Amino acid sequence: MSKIGFIGLGIMGSPMAGHLVAAGHTVTGFDLSEPAMATLAEAGGQRAGSVGDAIAGAEVVITMLPQDEHVEAVTTEVIAAGGDGLLLIDMSTIRPETSKNVAESAARKGIRVLDAPVSGGETGAKNAALSIMVGGTAEDFAEALPILESLGKTIVHVGPHGAGQVVKAANQLVVGGTYALVAEAIVLLEAAGVDAKAGMDVLAGGLAASRILDLKRDSMIARNFQPGFRIDLHHKDMGIVQAAARQAGVSLPMAGLTAQLIAAARAMGHGSLDHSALLKVVETLSGR
Ligand code: NAD
Repeated sequence: MSKIGFIGLGIMGSPMAGHLVAAGHTVTGFDLSEPAMATLAEAGGQRAGSVGDAIAGAEVVITMLPQDEHVEAVTTEVIAAGGDGLLLIDMSTIRPETSKNVAESAARKGIRVLDAPVSGGETGAKNAALSIMVGGTAEDFAEALPILESLGKTIVHVGPHGAGQVVKAANQLVVGGTYALVAEAIVLLEAAGVDAKAGMDVLAGGLAASRILDLKRDSMIARNFQPGFRIDLHHKDMGIVQAAARQAGVSLPMAGLTAQLIAAARAMGHGSLDHSALLKVVETLSGR
């Protein structure tokens, strides 16, 4: 069992830290939010007063933070305070370039880094059923695997530093684009006077089937946009998709269109709704 420092105990990090405690690890956590710290203590984790406290004596540090700037700030502290041989697993969704930079800076102090973003949302985090895409060396992946197995079901080493974030960007592109198309299909059916539920049920049984259609078509037709995964976070992720595309030198027209629809959803004030609320943008564009 490992001594783990866990930084970022939000929607995702909180249940993940709880699973690590349940698996028998010693987990010392830090978050800026007091309720998040209280939840960790209730789950049997140790409270830390700072990032430095959380990582003191840790063999492994896990970060689960909102965006690039948070990861940059926290990992700078971890790298400054951490010792040779520490394994830092960043599970946040950030730009591949940022992950590579963190790994490079850490290596100068003998600290090893994996980028290990996740898919599966809050439900996946609570059920320890996340998909985890990992970038870094094969040796570090092998060392992290027993820990990651307490958090997810599909755990794949996808390549060197930054590769995990590129795979996550591809995931967010497919998810965002699929939501946009499902939204358009629902608006088309309703505007044409066809029963949307009957129509979407048929689609779900044919080649257009998808996990999103299975899980979300009924709530979208009912206009239930409780998050889930917020438009604001998907907006951040489409920025990552576009940065990754620029870095790779490719043109992704559907990514651009999806990013604009998500930006429109935010501009219309829907940033805190579930990303399936792209339906509201398509309705507005159609004058409905
Ligand atoms: P969240 O906002 O609920 O949690 C982030 C936590 O980090 C907050 O509790 C915040 O207080 C804490 N934090 C921020 N700066 C800090 C600092 N300097 N020191 C200590 N704590 C700090 O976000 P979340 O939904 O848990 O998402 C975390 C990451 O996981 C994001 O990158 C997100 O894109 C990704 N993700 C989220 C989901 C989802 O469904 N929510 C799914 C997959 C991936």
